[in-house]
Amino acid sequence: MLNKADTGLSAIAVEDVSLRYGEGESSVLALSNLSLGVKSNEFCVIVGPSGCGKSSLLYLIAGLEDRTSGTIAVGGEVVTEPGADRGMVFQSYTLFPWLTVAQNVEYGPKLKGVAPAERKAIVDHYLEEVGLADFKNHYATQLSGGMKQRVAIARALANDPAVLLMDEPFGALDSQTRHSMQQLLLRVWDHTKKTVLFVTHDIDEAILLGDRVVVMSGRPGKILEELAINFPRPRTSDLTMEADFIALKRQILALLRQDGAEY
Ligand code: ADP
Ligand code: MG
Repeated sequence: MLNKADTGLSAIAVEDVSLRYGEGESSVLALSNLSLGVKSNEFCVIVGPSGCGKSSLLYLIAGLEDRTSGTIAVGGEVVTEPGADRGMVFQSYTLFPWLTVAQNVEYGPKLKGVAPAERKAIVDHYLEEVGLADFKNHYATQLSGGMKQRVAIARALANDPAVLLMDEPFGALDSQTRHSMQQLLLRVWDHTKKTVLFVTHDIDEAILLGDRVVVMSGRPGKILEELAINFPRPRTSDLTMEADFIALKRQILALLRQDGAEY
């Protein structure tokens, strides 16, 4: 059945959630009765046209926005505010420019009161993981877009969150950098086995990364279809040229176009 996911045993459980921005005639219904369950360790990708409420959904799960109705739980706990159990990586670069790379990654653990020696170990570990061990003392302004997003991923992981919420994190990068970031993220996910909810409007990216692709309708956003992606891992961008991949891509494109999106 569509739009009624089995959210019972999920790491992320979104049940019957609606979101309306504002009130009265000028209000905008961004999400309508949306249900979605993401399993522990799953890499779940949401695709949908611009303005369909993808970011809104992530903000709700992150606790940065209040839902109008429905419930959201992460790790069995109802979401009421932001928390360190949910790491967020945005499309726009959100590093603190006045802090070094290491200080940016250290920020969350420091806030939580983690002792300095342990903080240093965490910073070293995750900067190694994203290949930036040699850039510890650089400032964000000295980094390329791809490097900034690698720091953002390390910063999110440094809190050891249960889930990673990623909102078009590679959307602003050139295609070559995007491809290398996709591979980096797949490696990191393989090592950390985090639950990932990843938003993109790029269908290739969705199929390449995901265990499952959730296709959203235009506004008000709801779920049109969910597709299991069973290609073996590790996956490289060569996969995008295979017939099975292209068939899935056609299927997703047809769903989006059927809904009226210009894809
Ligand atoms: P997406 O990320 O899929 O592009 P968004 O979640 O950003 O979509 O937005 C969904 C809809 O909600 C859009 O029509 C957008 O204009 C509207 N919207 C988003 N944020 C706000 C806000 N703070 N106030 C009013 N409307 C908003
Ligand atoms: Mg968005």
